[in-house]
Amino acid sequence: MESLDELLKECGRLHGHMCAGQLLGARMAVVGCRLIRIDDPRGADRKKLIVWVEIDRCMADAVSAATGVRLGKRSLKFHDYGKVAATFFHTETKEAVRIVALEESRALADARYPQIEKKSERQFRTYREATDEELFKIERVAVNYNEMDAPGRPRSRVICASCGEGVNDGREIIAAGGHVLCRPCGLGGYYRNIQAPTP
Ligand SMILES: [Zn+2]
Ligand SMILES: [Zn+2]
Repeated sequence: MESLDELLKECGRLHGHMCAGQLLGARMAVVGCRLIRIDDPRGADRKKLIVWVEIDRCMADAVSAATGVRLGKRSLKFHDYGKVAATFFHTETKEAVRIVALEESRALADARYPQIEKKSERQFRTYREATDEELFKIERVAVNYNEMDAPGRPRSRVICASCGEGVNDGREIIAAGGHVLCRPCGLGGYYRNIQAPTP
C-alpha cells in the first residue's frame, strides 16, 4: 500500500479538502488492509476487498479514496449507525476486521497540543502521530455477506406488487399471501408519497 502521504493526496482529491477525518479514514484503511492481508487494494487486490462504513462523514470518503472501494461498484457498503467505524473484509479468505475510532482519541488531541489554538490542527497533528492503539478499537468480526451482496451483474430482479418498481439482488420481501414487495412498500421507507405518481 502507498505511504500515508500518498494516500492523503488521493483523499484530498476525492473529498475536496484536507481534514482530521481524512487522516483518520486513511489510517483506518491502512490498518484494516494490513490486518486482512490486502497489499494493493486499488490495484492487484481490488476485487478482494469489501468495506462497510458506519457514518456518512469525512472519514467515509477517506476510506473510499485510500482503498478504491466505491458504492457504485458494490465494494463499499453503508450502514447509517452514526459511528466513526469501518469493517474491512477479504472476499477470498473471509477475514474481517472492524475498526472504531476511540472516544479517547478526541481528548488526546487537547492533551497533547494544548498550545495549538485551532482544534482541527490539534486533531490533525495528533491523529498523524498517535499509535493505532491510541486511536482505534480493533476487533476481528464475521460479516453477513453473501452472493447477493457481491460486485458484478445483478443476481436477480423482481417487480414490487405494490408500487410496480423493479428490485435487484434479492432486496425484496415476501409479504403475507406470498406478495413480493420492495422494502419501502413492505417495511416503510425514508420517503412518503404526497401526490399521485406520474404518469
Ligand atoms: Zn472533511
Ligand atoms: Zn414497492
